[in-house]
Amino acid sequence: MDNQSTMASQNDARQFKFCQNCGAKIDANAVICPHCGVALPAFTPASSVPATANGKKGSYWWSVLGFFIPVAGLVLYIVWRTSEPKSANAAGLGALIHVVLWTAIIAFFFTLAVMTA
Ligand SMILES: [Zn+2]
Repeated sequence: MDNQSTMASQNDARQFKFCQNCGAKIDANAVICPHCGVALPAFTPASSVPATANGKKGSYWWSVLGFFIPVAGLVLYIVWRTSEPKSANAAGLGALIHVVLWTAIIAFFFTLAVMTA
């Protein structure tokens, strides 16, 4: 009797999810619902939503544009600063990386020229 009750409580402590098709309570690690046989999506926490990745990808390209055409990146940053701050920051960041990178390259070759002269 005591054994059975402890086993039952152990069972309840396991992670469960509910089938999206028939609503049956099934093991969190199950890939296919044993009740209706429908394939189940992987058990993932609600925080990992791919929608945010799409937004990041969108602003990522503005960084690329700002990097290759820093003037365009700067203009977009000024234009979008209030209406689309996310895209504006990305474009401005791309332009900033361009400037920093070229400053570093010029400084490197300048130092090299001074050292070898
Ligand atoms: Zn099911």
